Amino acid sequence: MADQKFYLGFDLGGTNMVAGVVDADYRIIHKESIPTRAGRPIEEVTFDMAEVSKKALYNAGLTLDDISSWGIGMPSYVNPKTNLLVHANNFGWKNVPVYDHLSRHISLPIYIENDANCAAYGEVLAGAASKYTDAVMLTLGTGVGGGIVMNKKIYAGFDNMGAELGHTKLVYNGIRCTCGQKGCLESYCSSTALIRKTKEAVDTRPDTLILQLCGQDKEGINGEIVFEAARRKDPLAVEIIDEYICHLAAGISTFITIFRPEVIILGGGMAQAEDLLLEPLNQQLYTSTFAAEEIGIPRVICAELGNDAGIIGAAFLEKTMQK
Ligand SMILES: [Zn+2]
Repeated sequence: MADQKFYLGFDLGGTNMVAGVVDADYRIIHKESIPTRAGRPIEEVTFDMAEVSKKALYNAGLTLDDISSWGIGMPSYVNPKTNLLVHANNFGWKNVPVYDHLSRHISLPIYIENDANCAAYGEVLAGAASKYTDAVMLTLGTGVGGGIVMNKKIYAGFDNMGAELGHTKLVYNGIRCTCGQKGCLESYCSSTALIRKTKEAVDTRPDTLILQLCGQDKEGINGEIVFEAARRKDPLAVEIIDEYICHLAAGISTFITIFRPEVIILGGGMAQAEDLLLEPLNQQLYTSTFAAEEIGIPRVICAELGNDAGIIGAAFLEKTMQK
């Protein structure tokens, strides 16, 4: 194609892998996706990653010559000193030379970053926070992911191992987290946490719309049902969501106090209940954050790009990372 520059972004998820070709205005011009089939050896997965990426380029009418780098987001970390992927729980990989495997198939500079960091970066480049340079993003799904962007660059700490906002300590000696620690933000603010809390609560208070909405079978409880019951003013659901918002506000106020971003972005499935979350969250943050009266607080807003944020952020990693 002409002289225009394009970018190749990749999102390696536990369920699907997606390659996206992105233009210089952060628009995804073509996407290809296949199931990840996690649990396979890294040789097979990296081969598929390259194939899907080449297919995306081909179907966009481009070749590798039109692309300057291959940016990849995945739920893991690569140590920039050793170039080893430290660990990826969903995939069963530990200390693997991921760059070596990938570069066998595509000869471009490769940049790898944690997927939550890519999503935050994508939202700052082209989504909800495009007017800002400093943002903190929380992805509220089955877990809680976190990404920090400072001065339009991903901030991931020493050796790229930081920004684990979901595993910051919210409650001393609190609920056991998937990471093995106790009291992490994720143990209170993930959808898994909300569902666990609700299942416990309906046992003692079965006269609730929550159980009606799932056909009296508490195994059918999900985040949407709890939010819907709260929308219809079910007292138990309102209590549960109020408590959820208190925990989330406590976590966010800490991030505001440390990083002072211009804006906080909420993404992930839980953020779809923005009608119930945003206003009370912003109010609570104002009353419970350090020096809010004197210097104000950044607004909490919802992500705009969905899964595309991670692809766009990954595509532009070459602008934020140096290998
Ligand atoms: Zn944890």
